[in-house]
Amino acid sequence: MKRFLLGSFFLLLSSFFLNGCAEKPVKVLLVTGQNNHHWEVSHLAIKQILENSGLFTVDLAVSPAKGEDMSGFHPDFSAYPLIVLDYNGDSWPEETNRRFETYVKNGGGVVVYHAADNAFPNWKAYNEICALGGWEGRNEKDGPYVYWKDGKIVRDSSAGSGGSHGQQHEYILHKRSDHPIVKGLPEQWLHAKDELYDRMRGPGVLDSLLYTAYSDPATGGSGREEPLVFTVRYGKGRIFHTMLGHAGSSLEENPAMQCLGFQVLLLRGAEWAAMGEVKQKVPAVFPTGTHVSLRDNYR
Ligand SMILES: [Zn+2]
Repeated sequence: MKRFLLGSFFLLLSSFFLNGCAEKPVKVLLVTGQNNHHWEVSHLAIKQILENSGLFTVDLAVSPAKGEDMSGFHPDFSAYPLIVLDYNGDSWPEETNRRFETYVKNGGGVVVYHAADNAFPNWKAYNEICALGGWEGRNEKDGPYVYWKDGKIVRDSSAGSGGSHGQQHEYILHKRSDHPIVKGLPEQWLHAKDELYDRMRGPGVLDSLLYTAYSDPATGGSGREEPLVFTVRYGKGRIFHTMLGHAGSSLEENPAMQCLGFQVLLLRGAEWAAMGEVKQKVPAVFPTGTHVSLRDNYR
C-alpha cells in the first residue's frame, strides 16, 4: 500500500513537471451509449487515455439504448469545456441538438471520434461541425469528397456514396500541417492495425488538415490520400476530428486505440479543442515510419 501510494505520488509529481502546470484537470463530457461499434470498449479506452494523462477528468453521458425513449436525454454540455463524441445512433431530442449547436457556436470544444462522424446525416449543423462524414445514405447531396492530391486539398463534387473502408491494416500517416496539435510530431509514422476511412463527404470545410493516409486499392481502398485527422471551426468553437481508432472486442484486443500515436493525437487534440493551445510535451517514444508503438494499458 505504502509503495502504491509512493508510486502514485511520483506519478502525480512527474505529470506535474512533464506538463508544467498545476492547473486543474479539464472537465470532459463523453457522450456515448449507441454505436455500430463496441462503444462499451471505446468509451472506456477514451476515458482511461484522457484521465491517465492527469490532464482531464471524464464524466459520461450514456444515452438510452437503441429504440428506447430518448426524450429525457439532455446532457448539460455547457458545464464542460470539452465534449467527446463516441455516439452513432438514434436522433437526440431537438432541444438537445439546439443546445449542442449553441454550445459549439459559443466556443465549446469538441472531439469527433471515429464513427461519431457517421451519425445524424440529416442534421445540418452537426455535419458542419464534423466537416466530413460517411455512410447513412450520404452522397453528393451532402457535399464533396475531400482528399489530398498534388500537395493540396481537393474538393471533388463527383457523384457517389460517402464513406467506405477496406480491410483493417497498419498504415502510414503523413503530416500536412504545423498546427500546435502536431507540432513536433513525426512527418510520418506507422499506425497500428485500424480501419482507414475513405471517400468521406460533407460540407468539407476544414480548418487545418493534420494527417492523411494513402488508401491503397490493394487493401480495398480508394486510391486516394485520405484526410483522417483535422481541425474544424464552428462559430467560436474548436473541433478536433479523428477518424482513427476503430474499437476492438475488448480493452486488451484493441490495437487501433492502444496505438501510442492514436493516444497522443487524442490527448493533444483534446487539449487544443478545450483550451486553444497545447502544452503537452511530445513523448520521447513515438511510432516510427516502420515500427508500430503501443501503450497497451492506455497510459
Ligand atoms: Zn470502425
